[in-house]
Amino acid sequence: MDQTSLLHKKVSVIGAARSGIAAARLLQAHGADVLISDTSPAEKLQTSIVELKAAGIAFETGKHTERVYDCALMVISPGVPNNAPVVLEAQKRGKEIVSELEAGSWFCRAPIVAITGSNGKTTTTTLIGEILENAKKKHVVAGNIGTAFSSLVSGLTDTDIAVLEVSSFQLDHISTFRPRISALLNITPDHMDRYDHSMEKYAASKARVFENQAGDDVVLYNADDEWTEKVIGNARCRKICFTVKTILSEGAFLEKGMLVTVLNGERVEIIPSKNIFIKGTHNLYNAMASVLAGQLLGVDAASIRSTLETFKGVEHRLEFVRDLNNIRYYNDSKATNVDSVWYALQAFEQPIVMILGGRDKGNDYSRLNELVKEHVRAIVAIGESSATVENAFRGTVVVKKAASMEEAVSTAKFLAEPGDVVLLSPACASFDWFRNYEHRGEVFKELVNTL
Ligand code: ADP
Repeated sequence: MDQTSLLHKKVSVIGAARSGIAAARLLQAHGADVLISDTSPAEKLQTSIVELKAAGIAFETGKHTERVYDCALMVISPGVPNNAPVVLEAQKRGKEIVSELEAGSWFCRAPIVAITGSNGKTTTTTLIGEILENAKKKHVVAGNIGTAFSSLVSGLTDTDIAVLEVSSFQLDHISTFRPRISALLNITPDHMDRYDHSMEKYAASKARVFENQAGDDVVLYNADDEWTEKVIGNARCRKICFTVKTILSEGAFLEKGMLVTVLNGERVEIIPSKNIFIKGTHNLYNAMASVLAGQLLGVDAASIRSTLETFKGVEHRLEFVRDLNNIRYYNDSKATNVDSVWYALQAFEQPIVMILGGRDKGNDYSRLNELVKEHVRAIVAIGESSATVENAFRGTVVVKKAASMEEAVSTAKFLAEPGDVVLLSPACASFDWFRNYEHRGEVFKELVNTL
């Protein structure tokens, strides 16, 4: 199926949220006969229903009826799991199934830069957007990051650049999606429930980002990441890597603290890594991927350098909040797993008073032991898992429990000494005390700003 064959074809779109509606509108505009279907009750979809009615798109709510299978093509929204009954049934009936990303790409005249990985997607996608913005290159940033790709694709020409944050769920249902440049940041365990608890399957899904790339298309990849290294051999396009461990003849690397790139035989000293505003090894990887993408898109080194010096990162990811009495406060509320905290702890040279805990997803905190010994002055344990956190680290450092975020912030302030960092990096979900991680981060920042 492609755009030329859509005229009068029946298409079912699963999921009536932002991306689903965007895909439905796009396909309808190209002549398809669209039905959008969502299992949520109509009361919960009021805004969507208003929009669908105005656009004259047929819809059903509350459940998927037989009508959804009466189609030539099924498009699934990013939030719909690939093991959802409706997807499995459509597969059984031999329907062609694609993601909103794939459908959007059929109409994209701009070259695509696609960023995927287990961690760092939003940061890297945003940073590449900033690099292009500061270099005054026409571009859009979309995908998982907020704006649905399908909603803006029609406005793009071949002089634009589409920078897309791409999840493995979207990649699970591509067929022709072909980025000009892709970036594979890392592959560490995540969402294993959706991949039969198999790292092979999860890694294979991430690797699909380059499956249609060929010739002088480029895949940028992290050479220091075990699973990325395992899958990269399958790429049939140009492969360019980044590393903090060795010097390369092509790619991005560190040499005596300087971020250096070599591309097409040209060596460029981009920036001393200490001058990059966003901190930590993980952010150095994100920066390297972004620098390479920027250079490949024709942005000069000076412009990239000034972006790296000023880009403050994305809200709730090691976000600097405030310096009060020589204590620096950071919000890393998006750190909802142990791996993110592992990186966060290495991002600072100063002693850290860390606020840790929340709704625990079966965390193994022992992985943090060495780093806690080395970097952490004290831990303030919060949320449902405060007792687990206390048990895990009592004996290693001072641990104090707090019964609210307010108490956590004042306890952390009390425990911190001048020159320290206070870091909210919870390693847990937020739903015990908060609506979501954004809400948790907002509350933290507000409390810190009123200290
Ligand atoms: P994603 O969009 O992939 O979830 P984010 O940029 O939102 O990634 O970052 C999510 C969390 O992971 C944050 O706590 C952040 O500090 C951490 N992180 C960011 N980049 C990386 C990376 N390259 N490797 C490991 N962790 C990272």
